[in-house]
Amino acid sequence: MNRQQDFVLRTIEERDVRFVRLWFTDVVGSLKSVALAPAEVEGAFREGLGFDGSSIEGLSRIFESDMLLQPDASTFQLLPWRGNIEPTSRMFCDILTPDGEPSMADPRHVLKRQVEEAADMGFTCYTHPEVEFYLLRSDEMDANGHPQPVDSASYFDHVPGGIAQDFRRKAVTSLEEVGISVEFSHHESGPGQNEIDLRYADVLATADNLMTFRTIIKEVALLQGIYATFMPKPFSHHPGSGMHTHFSLFEGERNAFFEGGREYQLSTTARQFIAGVLTHAPEFTAVTNQFVNSYKRLWGGGEAPSHISWGHNNRSALVRVPLYKPEKGQSARVEYRGIDSAANPYLAYACILGAGLKGIRERYDLGDPTEEDIFSLTSRERRVLGLDPLPSTLHEAINVMENSELVADILGEWVFDAFLRNKRAEWDEYRQDISPFELRRYLGML
Ligand code: GLU
Ligand code: MG
Ligand code: MG
Repeated sequence: MNRQQDFVLRTIEERDVRFVRLWFTDVVGSLKSVALAPAEVEGAFREGLGFDGSSIEGLSRIFESDMLLQPDASTFQLLPWRGNIEPTSRMFCDILTPDGEPSMADPRHVLKRQVEEAADMGFTCYTHPEVEFYLLRSDEMDANGHPQPVDSASYFDHVPGGIAQDFRRKAVTSLEEVGISVEFSHHESGPGQNEIDLRYADVLATADNLMTFRTIIKEVALLQGIYATFMPKPFSHHPGSGMHTHFSLFEGERNAFFEGGREYQLSTTARQFIAGVLTHAPEFTAVTNQFVNSYKRLWGGGEAPSHISWGHNNRSALVRVPLYKPEKGQSARVEYRGIDSAANPYLAYACILGAGLKGIRERYDLGDPTEEDIFSLTSRERRVLGLDPLPSTLHEAINVMENSELVADILGEWVFDAFLRNKRAEWDEYRQDISPFELRRYLGML
């Protein structure tokens, strides 16, 4: 038993914890949970908890269905929404094979490998996500088949007595109770759309935090009789929900992205990182934008990026370099705006970080920034400026990913194959569906 494990066992005893939930994530980013009796925790620390992984998406083949969950004691947390009396707690787990090796099918391990890769190059990666989501009256559609937002407010609106405001206050309080610091929260542009920005943390902690975040947002919404959705584009005529994420690399205490006096105060390392991300973005878009619906956001306007470019404070760019005061060099960072709120954060962050590290390792050259508003350009103007598009459908994204050595390398063969299998099945199902659009458009006319 190490010190953190001792602390967990003591806390369980002292706080009279009733359940310890063991959390892990499948390939598409669904949270999985198994509740453990407190008396079993010591054994789980020592030997792991055996479970049958065969029916978990992407986890294992039938003949390797016995897997072990190894709780990570540093992630132990009481869950406030279950109450203070005989509380419930949780720990994130690593997935191990029966002989105790990290499982190649574990998304958390995929990200850990990139964290190690960064460490080997002398870097720690910090991330700060801005999560957008919609609050709906319920998960049912209205009479016209549309989701029903809780309000009709817009960007930064303050709605006196509004549901969203009340919701944000409760959500932020619950997040802070589990140690997730919130930088700010506000109403977003769409009706019922909200955004909560988490304070920066190392990339693995951020991915864990996002899994917790989604659970808390959904739980708090249910307690208020409403419904929260991270679906990338629930309304055709309102903006989608992005999960813009700011990345920085630190060398010890020093922000390696900052260099005073250079263009936009970006260091060579930062430029190479951006170049890596832009070069490989089409290859990992299936991961950062993993659903059929994700492409309705990317190509549906509403300030979502559809073309590959970078810019200083340019909201139409795929990678944006935010404005900051020169004396605040430690806050130098680059914002990846492509990713949506329904991505598996472990896999998506592994891809973005891995592409950036490749750019640094192989000294990629960064092209010129685009300062034009890409949304307002014609397709000819975009071509002249050399702005290539991101994949326009899940199908296209899968095809590009399939030929990517980099993404295969980052995800590992196992997750790479399982992910592609899952996404092909989704595309095939979508392709066979006769949509309301087709019926509306063709049935009476043809
Ligand atoms: N909702 C937009 C998106 O899907 C982002 C709006 C913003 O800049 O915050 O990316
Ligand atoms: Mg926003
Ligand atoms: Mg942003």
